Amino acid sequence: MSTIFSRIVAGELPADIVYQDDLVTCFRDINPVAPTHILVIPNREIATVNDFQDGDEHLAGHMVLVAQRIAREEGIADSGYRLIINCNRDGGQEVMHVHLHLVGGRRMGPMVLRE
Ligand code: 5GP
Repeated sequence: MSTIFSRIVAGELPADIVYQDDLVTCFRDINPVAPTHILVIPNREIATVNDFQDGDEHLAGHMVLVAQRIAREEGIADSGYRLIINCNRDGGQEVMHVHLHLVGGRRMGPMVLRE
């Protein structure tokens, strides 16, 4: 079973890829919520952040460092940005292939909606 995102990694589905290496693929979100909205995903299919395991430290850290580098390239490093990983239902995760959202280019507002 392949996720939509695995098919993007494999080049089977089109995406606006801004960076790719052996570990991660980064592409613009199809439905952006901010001027910069880029998804950083592991090339390997990992369903949720719950599924990271011992040994994935380098991959998880790499995702953050790649996001940091893209933020600089997008010109939003100094103005600021938000990195978000949604997990499962309450986190609002829709695609079951773990992904880090890099969003910025405008004020992000409150971190979480109050009920
Ligand atoms: P989640 O809610 O799972 O954290 O975020 C999933 C994100 O993936 C959403 O922001 C959605 O717009 C984006 N997305 C879903 N399908 C596609 C797709 O086929 N291509 C791209 N580029 N983004 C997608």
